[in-house]
Amino acid sequence: MKKAEAESARLLHQYGIEAPPVDVHRLARALGIDVQLERLDRSVSGMLVRSPSDDAAVIVVNGQHADVRQRFTIAHELGHFLLHRGRPVIVDHLTRAHVNMRDETSSLATSTEEIAANQFAASLLMPTDWVTSAINSLDHLSSSRQVAALASTFDVSEQAMEYRLINLGLRAAP
Ligand SMILES: [Zn+2]
Repeated sequence: MKKAEAESARLLHQYGIEAPPVDVHRLARALGIDVQLERLDRSVSGMLVRSPSDDAAVIVVNGQHADVRQRFTIAHELGHFLLHRGRPVIVDHLTRAHVNMRDETSSLATSTEEIAANQFAASLLMPTDWVTSAINSLDHLSSSRQVAALASTFDVSEQAMEYRLINLGLRAAP
């Protein structure tokens, strides 16, 4: 299991979360992270700002984005918080372009971190075994209705769910 997947599973287990939708606001509070909704530039999905000692952090989310997008952003920033210590400020853009205030020349490391944070977010909001058992109960539906039903159950966008299903090998890539 990848580290991001393992960390998200550990977090859900630690807080006794056993069914969708995952309450990312509750998880952030439990980790001592303040979540603030702000009017940010349309291209910015959110950011993680933390103290040098790692004992205080704030996730700022673009409050103008759809609720499902905000949930994914919070989960993504929780991934940075748990997986990428020692980064005082991380700003995330919708384009997946990424600015790291301390280390902006290291684009390879940066994109590796973005991939890990996205894996963390996807597996936190859509854990493999939950998705597998949920899709098994939707056998009677067409695949597009399955995606819509799953997205609603997990409170994620249909796009995020579709992508997750492809990554889990539960659906062929288009
Ligand atoms: Zn990021």
